[in-house]
Amino acid sequence: DPAKIRTRFPPEPNGYLHVGHAKSICLNFGLARDYGGVCHMRFDDTNPEKEDTEYVNSILDAVKWLGFNWDAHGTSHLYQASDYFDFMYRAAEFLIQAGLAYVDEQSAEDMRQNRGDFNTPGKDSPFRARTREENLSRFREMRDGQLADGAAVLRAKIDMASPNINMRDPAIYRIRRATHHNTGDTWCIYPMYTFAHPIEDALEQITHSICTLEFEDQRPFYDWLLSRLSESHTLTDGSAMPALLAQPNPKQYEFARLNLTYVITSKRKLAQLVNEGKVNGWDDPRMPTIVGLRRRGYTPESLQLFAERIGVTKSDSWIDYSTLEGCLRDDLDPKAARAMAVLDPIALTITNWDELMGAGTLDDCHAPVHPHHPELGQRHFKFGKSLWIERTDYEEIPPKGFFRLFPGNKVRLKYGHVIECTGAHKDASGQVTEVLAKLIPDTKSGTPGSDSVKVKGVITWVGQTDAASAEVRLYDRLFTEANPDAGGKDFLASLNPDSLKVITAYVEPSLANSLADAKFQFERHGYFVADRTDHTQSRLVFNRCTGLKDTWSK
Ligand code: ATP
Ligand code: MG
Repeated sequence: DPAKIRTRFPPEPNGYLHVGHAKSICLNFGLARDYGGVCHMRFDDTNPEKEDTEYVNSILDAVKWLGFNWDAHGTSHLYQASDYFDFMYRAAEFLIQAGLAYVDEQSAEDMRQNRGDFNTPGKDSPFRARTREENLSRFREMRDGQLADGAAVLRAKIDMASPNINMRDPAIYRIRRATHHNTGDTWCIYPMYTFAHPIEDALEQITHSICTLEFEDQRPFYDWLLSRLSESHTLTDGSAMPALLAQPNPKQYEFARLNLTYVITSKRKLAQLVNEGKVNGWDDPRMPTIVGLRRRGYTPESLQLFAERIGVTKSDSWIDYSTLEGCLRDDLDPKAARAMAVLDPIALTITNWDELMGAGTLDDCHAPVHPHHPELGQRHFKFGKSLWIERTDYEEIPPKGFFRLFPGNKVRLKYGHVIECTGAHKDASGQVTEVLAKLIPDTKSGTPGSDSVKVKGVITWVGQTDAASAEVRLYDRLFTEANPDAGGKDFLASLNPDSLKVITAYVEPSLANSLADAKFQFERHGYFVADRTDHTQSRLVFNRCTGLKDTWSK
């Protein structure tokens, strides 16, 4: 085998991948990359009713987008469990012929009762003593559609008294008349996941079958099955039946699944959010799905960094949401172009502009695209008589420690001039409608002597003549509780009613030509992404990815 190790990422194509899957993808593909191995992309499609090719495609896209692929040594390692249905069927007959499986026709209720529980050993089914020949012909009748759905199951014959309930003759095949998205109506019996998965791993020569901790109790069955299939058995006529699988067998390893505060990762519950219209689809930027995170502005690098930072453990724990956001900030900070945007605009009028500069004059200002990357060049925008500033940058009566605009105070308009506030106009209700200031001459940023006037505050702004108007979607946590579905709680009860606020903002002209999916740091405000779906150059739409600082852990 040219691969030193083989891992696999085996999703069931029954929904969209989420941030927990991203952890598993980074782990499995990352191990293969780091240890000279290969990671197989495999669809565990043994559950025909819930699966769909729509999900298959979205899963492939998500894995590729995260930066991984399944091509190695000239082979595409893309597999689906359903490709092995013939082999799995043979494996089931092999167990029957070895006297290790039987067709059980107890009612579902009897089967449940006879399984026992933690304190009570199970009871043998009356069908457990069937002969191998009888089991074989009955199993073939199951396959041929002669039994109704649910009328019988094939069970491994192990130990009804085992302290591990998974070893009390687990079901390995069931009857289900359902059209499969890959095999159509070829089969009316389907293998159980716990039977199918070890066989898939063995056929693909997986060395490290990595799964989440809840499968720890399944490991004895995983090992039991593969060792039985990879040894020879004596048939009733005394002849030998050769092994079906080659040794060595794959090994299962478990790791803790990702639990993230303020996030749910159950596919069923995520589907509920979508189906009940609590969010706008699977790719809503508030969703923890990979498509949602992507639309929120998460990059593949930020998610890989996240997987690396949280690491792999054997004990379940909760990761703070701020860890995820911190990874995005750390990834975007050195890359994202800077821009000024005014999110809650109020007009600022420079009352002495006409007199000092001449009516209608506009003054060119510039700023670096990125403060640490001069090679990325400059952004240009115009200063003039009429500007937009943040409403919260003006206070008629300043609270203690407020250094921005209030009558008599001087501030610098970033990359522009120093101004001194002279007051404001208000409407009948007392709301400020326009802030007034005068320009202090010879203070333009970057000109000699411009810092001779000392100010304590610097504020952001955009020009009324050249700013572009933009829809800005301010996203916040989707739930108000850190563990929305803990202990069987109704997670819908803690939906945050303010998880989305849509506002109209003014942004600097450099953003007018921005492309969908481009990421920016809006100075003082945080990181924003041009929405992948709705942003065009005639309709600017930005999503807030995250603020500049951690506000979650407080
Ligand atoms: P389902 O509830 O439908 O079984 P699942 O979350 O188990 O959903 P799968 O498609 O079976 O989804 O998962 C594919 C792989 O992703 C599995 O190997 C699983 O262990 C891993 N995985 C799923 N959820 C998480 C999670 N929260 N953290 C880490 N790994 C996960
Ligand atoms: Mg699963």
